[in-house]
Amino acid sequence: MKKPASKSKKTLSASRDNLRFKVFLGSVALHSALGTCDRLRTACGIVNNKRLRGIGYNGSVSGLPHCDQKGHLIVDNHCIRTRHGEVNAISNTDRKDIRDGQAIVIATPCLDCAKDLAEEGIRRIDYVGSYENSLGKQHLAELAKQKGIELHNHNVDWADFFQELFNLLTQKGGVLKNAGYRLKVTKEPLPENKSC
Ligand SMILES: [Zn+2]
Ligand SMILES: [Zn+2]
Repeated sequence: MKKPASKSKKTLSASRDNLRFKVFLGSVALHSALGTCDRLRTACGIVNNKRLRGIGYNGSVSGLPHCDQKGHLIVDNHCIRTRHGEVNAISNTDRKDIRDGQAIVIATPCLDCAKDLAEEGIRRIDYVGSYENSLGKQHLAELAKQKGIELHNHNVDWADFFQELFNLLTQKGGVLKNAGYRLKVTKEPLPENKSC
């Protein structure tokens, strides 16, 4: 009797870890909407000891105009006006919480950001999708290997992803359950898929 009980406890804890990752990823994805460079709105969350310790999104240095106010600042086909989400996440998180932590990144970290995360002692980077214009991305795997950082790339179907989160909120006691309705996500393709 005891063995199956402990096994199911293990399964429960694994599914709790899985759920936690999804909720944190969803939170980071929502923060990317605050990004001020519309070539790519990104965000990064720093996780340590099962808690989301800090988040950053890409935007200008505080007090300076953003891309959506002044236009992009392009050098070699890269907009260099913003501080990237990872750098802002580092600024927004206690250093001790970054050490041995995990970074969740929307799109592909550029090499400079990966170097900053590595320097702060990040042990694992989970990033979603791939961004073709990410500067130095071809050196990312090598850096991770050299620094012993686990690198995980995720392909996420955002419709399915948010549907799952909305379903969770429709469970007994959840905000949607209490609101008395469920949300259904549908995909409506955009007329034109613009990429940078
Ligand atoms: Zn820009
Ligand atoms: Zn970067």
